Amino acid sequence: MARTVAVPLAPGVWRIPTVGRAMVNSYAFVDDDGSVTLVDCGARRAPARIVRGLAAIGKTPADVTRIVLTHAHADHAGGAAELARRTGAPVAAHRADMPYAESGRVPPQGGGNTVGRFLTRLAGGRFPAVAVARPLADGDVLPVGGGLRVVHTPGHSPGHVSLLHEPTRVLVTGDALFNVAGVRWPVRSFCTDFQMTQRTAHVLGELDYDVAAFTHGPELTDRAREQVRAFLRRLG
Ligand SMILES: [Zn+2]
Repeated sequence: MARTVAVPLAPGVWRIPTVGRAMVNSYAFVDDDGSVTLVDCGARRAPARIVRGLAAIGKTPADVTRIVLTHAHADHAGGAAELARRTGAPVAAHRADMPYAESGRVPPQGGGNTVGRFLTRLAGGRFPAVAVARPLADGDVLPVGGGLRVVHTPGHSPGHVSLLHEPTRVLVTGDALFNVAGVRWPVRSFCTDFQMTQRTAHVLGELDYDVAAFTHGPELTDRAREQVRAFLRRLG
């Protein structure tokens, strides 16, 4: 079966998987002038697949004018240095994750648990460092096709952000929530502070959107907000 290269979510909004059909996802937002904002860059080897995804929507790296990182983990920021080089686009990330993106070291992990922290350190967690030209803060609205709102949802990492594209009503949750065999929390041992992850995700139930797009797992397009709210409510 042909590989999934790009999945349309709304006019000008595409999901580009970098692992499997939806195991790890990047996103492309195409502006009226044809320029592309790329959200997340996958792991170190993902850029080739992202470039194929861009080609499938009629774009090349030269069309990318902005790169936004949801957080500085190797499976999202690992390909950023190469894509920044190939596109010439500035990289934006929340200021609390900047030191990690710029050193190529993931933030502390383990969800507050020493064993988890030890195991994740064994698993690596280094990636090619990338300069962050545009530090982000909660509430920033990037001029992406009418407005891409930065929603700080720390916990998974200190500077983790979700992104709400207001004109198309697409929410990119980032790793604040997974949709792997159902909506669920991200893996605890990969979080800097799991309890904070759970606390800050509640803001995702209060935003307005029709499509919930995840960096791990396929999108929800049917009553997305209600499904996210139902999940968050279960947890109290
Ligand atoms: Zn992740």
